[in-house]
Amino acid sequence: MSAPRIGVLALQGAFREHIRSLRRCGADAVEIRTREDLDGLSGLVLPGGESTVMGKLLTEWDMMDRLRGLIRDGLPVFGTCAGLILLCTDIIGHPGQPRIGLLDASVRRNAFGRQVDSFTTDLELSPFPAVRPLEDRAAPMRAVFIRAPLIERTGTGVEVLARVNGLPVAVRQRNILAVSFHPELTA
Ligand code: GLN
Repeated sequence: MSAPRIGVLALQGAFREHIRSLRRCGADAVEIRTREDLDGLSGLVLPGGESTVMGKLLTEWDMMDRLRGLIRDGLPVFGTCAGLILLCTDIIGHPGQPRIGLLDASVRRNAFGRQVDSFTTDLELSPFPAVRPLEDRAAPMRAVFIRAPLIERTGTGVEVLARVNGLPVAVRQRNILAVSFHPELTA
């Protein structure tokens, strides 16, 4: 079986760390910078960074509609932090911010404070297929939060996979997986 080709949106943000992590997992990880790069992927990662900048560039470089169409058609996508924000239908207080808008959730940007308020915590991630073969139970996972968004509402089709202090930090809706922390910064 050949390695799955996984794209990482590489317009801005922590894309290099995701590429490194994916390659360590045996994936054929590729940087996505143009509309054409989006063809032929088995999956896509939307990294952390600045959701405003990524949304603006996706629109200006004519990638937004294509991206939205692929995800709507079932392309597995994993959004982290700013990537999560881009995926949400509702960005609280920023109605005009460009987004993909397919994850039925309301998110508040920078809800945990400023850069200096960044923190690390261990969390239990509900087993999902990628985790289960390694350990047949919820696996504790180190999570790094950097100016993280807060998921304040989730729609009925959205499953919460992990919480910190009772608040959702990892969610899944069909082919969309999203976390408010930075898994690419830890093992
Ligand atoms: N605060 C950023 C935003 O609103 C997200 C931070 C991050 O991705 N680490 O886009």
